[in-house]
Amino acid sequence: MRFTRLRLNGFKSFVDPTDLVIQDGLTGVVGPNGCGKSNLLEALRWVMGEHRASAMRGGGMEDVIFAGTSTRGARNFAEVVLQIDNEERLAPSGFNDSDLLEITRRITRDVGSAYKVNTKDVRARDVQMLFADASTGAHSPALVRQGQINELINAKPKARRRILEEAAGISGLYQRRHEAELR
Ligand code: ATP
Ligand code: MG
Repeated sequence: MRFTRLRLNGFKSFVDPTDLVIQDGLTGVVGPNGCGKSNLLEALRWVMGEHRASAMRGGGMEDVIFAGTSTRGARNFAEVVLQIDNEERLAPSGFNDSDLLEITRRITRDVGSAYKVNTKDVRARDVQMLFADASTGAHSPALVRQGQINELINAKPKARRRILEEAAGISGLYQRRHEAELR
């Protein structure tokens, strides 16, 4: 599964519809402070089913909706669409009947979030599972928050080990060993 496009509308600072083509070999996004680089990464995390407002640098989930500026009014909804190339049919069963997958998440003020895969309404859990099976997703260690590297460097050895184990995907093994030892 390859991410090929990210479309944003009313998400954080991306008030106008924005269509970002993710081409092979994309290694970086550059721009002045505050131009929205971190917001892009958050959009990616959000459309994959992130449900913690703290991970989106907000107090509540609706804080991802464009809040308005001195010259533009606030929006009532935010929408992010992630397009995935699924020619190799690597998506979980149930999502494997087309070459392109479009995952849409929209949040409306006072209503909450709704998800779609292509044109079909799905639950948050379906989207989370789709990405979990593909070893990515909102909690993927591949998505590194700004400041997270500093946290890693400054962490105490035990905490640092936990972070590395989490990234290596072996923390579940410890849990299972612990459960086995209790039996
Ligand atoms: P830096 O280089 O400093 O890391 P950046 O390019 O990562 O900057 P972001 O943190 O992505 O920048 O963008 C911050 C901008 O997004 C700020 O100007 C902030 O006001 C704006 N912003 C965040 N949430 C909203 C929102 N809900 N509505 C409108 N603007 C928002
Ligand atoms: Mg940033």
